Amino acid sequence: MKTDFVVIGSGIAGLNFALEASKYGKVTLITKKEIMDSNTNKAQGGIAAVLDRHDSTESHVEDTLKTGCYHNDIEAVEYLVKEGPKMIKKLLDYGTPFEQKSGVLKLTREGGHKCRRVAYSGDHTGHAIEKTLVDVVKENENIEVLEDTMALDLIVKDGKCYGVQYLQGKKVGELYGKAVILATGGAGYLFAKTTNPDIATADGLAMAARAGAKIEDMEFLQFHPTALSKNGHDPFLISEAVRGEGGKLKNSKGKRFMHKYHEMKELAPRDIVARAIAKEALNGPVTLDISHEDSEFLKTRFPTIYETLIEIGIDMTKEPIPVSPAAHYTCGGVKVNLDGETNIGNLYAFGEVSRTGVHGANRLASNSLLESIVFSNNIIKAVKNLEHEVEEVPVEKQEFSDFDAANLKKEIRQIMWDHVGLIRNEKGLKTSIQKLRSIEENLPKGVNKDLIEAKNMAIAGRIIAEAALKRKKSLGCHFRDDEI
Ligand SMILES: Cc1cc2nc3c(=O)[nH]c(=O)nc-3n(C[C@H](O)[C@H](O)[C@H](O)COP(=O)(O)OP(=O)(O)OC[C@H]3O[C@@H](n4cnc5c(N)ncnc54)[C@H](O)[C@@H]3O)c2cc1C
Repeated sequence: MKTDFVVIGSGIAGLNFALEASKYGKVTLITKKEIMDSNTNKAQGGIAAVLDRHDSTESHVEDTLKTGCYHNDIEAVEYLVKEGPKMIKKLLDYGTPFEQKSGVLKLTREGGHKCRRVAYSGDHTGHAIEKTLVDVVKENENIEVLEDTMALDLIVKDGKCYGVQYLQGKKVGELYGKAVILATGGAGYLFAKTTNPDIATADGLAMAARAGAKIEDMEFLQFHPTALSKNGHDPFLISEAVRGEGGKLKNSKGKRFMHKYHEMKELAPRDIVARAIAKEALNGPVTLDISHEDSEFLKTRFPTIYETLIEIGIDMTKEPIPVSPAAHYTCGGVKVNLDGETNIGNLYAFGEVSRTGVHGANRLASNSLLESIVFSNNIIKAVKNLEHEVEEVPVEKQEFSDFDAANLKKEIRQIMWDHVGLIRNEKGLKTSIQKLRSIEENLPKGVNKDLIEAKNMAIAGRIIAEAALKRKKSLGCHFRDDEI
């Protein structure tokens, strides 16, 4: 198959790129499950931008840099913040139902932000954005969407990318294009406890690594402090906005503790809150309590969280919610410039799979949806590819395999949680690298969805562990308990 733009992934980054690129050429977007399956669809809290007259570009830039421990690329941060308000307007124009009062956007506050600057739609902002963009994409005649179509490997020759090899059912095929766009999201599902859905297996990152792309900052894997902690239930995210609206963290004695760890208390940067919870949890379960707020307000402000908790027997309007940290966001990724260009010709990366330099050593809450839309909107360089012809280069055909890799994925997720999690040290990291390498080397030949995911998870997991081993001092969301 041939197209102009090959887009891999249907989250906010892939959908937004597809919409922009469709103004110039034919887009073929492949996505490994259904079109809505993405981290974007799960985002709760909101999207940050300078939208209030009391706010300023300088303030958003400073909050982003401070949370990122000044490890960020300033040029990328300034670009992100400057473009932010235009992107919120764009999402509104497409019909995203952000909450408003008398025509003015309502804004909430999240950890690390000095003021209210987060636009939201209940506690399901990501779903609202994803649904809106999917509806617009489906109407667009220049965009073809192929669901249940998994990218296996990039087709790269002499430092240039020509397309992607994909799996559809049991069939392996090739899709060639003038520009190839990785928008495959992050690596959260590499960890046994995560807020991410099962699509987040770092496929794009591993494919890019195999193709020789530069990858940076992978040690900065953010753990969300407050995921539900109840035996037998997934670590469902309890949004930062719950703390933004007054939720208090309490230890097993029912006492608040965040004042001991940071002046911003519950709204301190995520890594600080996550480690504080992990420390307090050594003496018994930690809870998040917002039951002092008006119950009708809580039900309307947090409908998804309220209903999900009610289903498992917790009434957040009356009782505290048991919480603990879980893997959440991948700050590093495939290294790109402001135009999304990688070091491989014709290959671009946008969204969570990319490393723009915006997040530094830690992501400021609600900056990731913003990063995904701001950078995927900058398609100037990708459009220049249209001047060339689509070229087909021969590839080695991969064969379908019946091998069941489900248990291998489970094993990798446990290794990552045990040794490459919230608190790391040399011994654990070396153990994980050795185990992951052994899994990777012993994988059988052939392809199927689980097998390819296991391979990608082993490769991406090792890349994270190696980066964490190399950085001997703690910084941002990378924490070593053996630093000298
Ligand atoms: C529970 C939760 C809450 C969050 N809340 C917020 C928030 O409030 N604010 C905020 O800014 N950020 C939030 N985030 C982070 C944010 O959602 C993500 O960073 C952002 O959505 C990433 O968008 P993306 O387009 O890069 O990737 P995604 O939305 O993850 O999309 C990736 C796409 O690639 C596809 N894909 C992956 N591999 C392949 C393959 N091999 N072949 C084909 N397709 C593939 C996937 O199926 C998916 O469609 C949250 C994340 C989670 C999990």
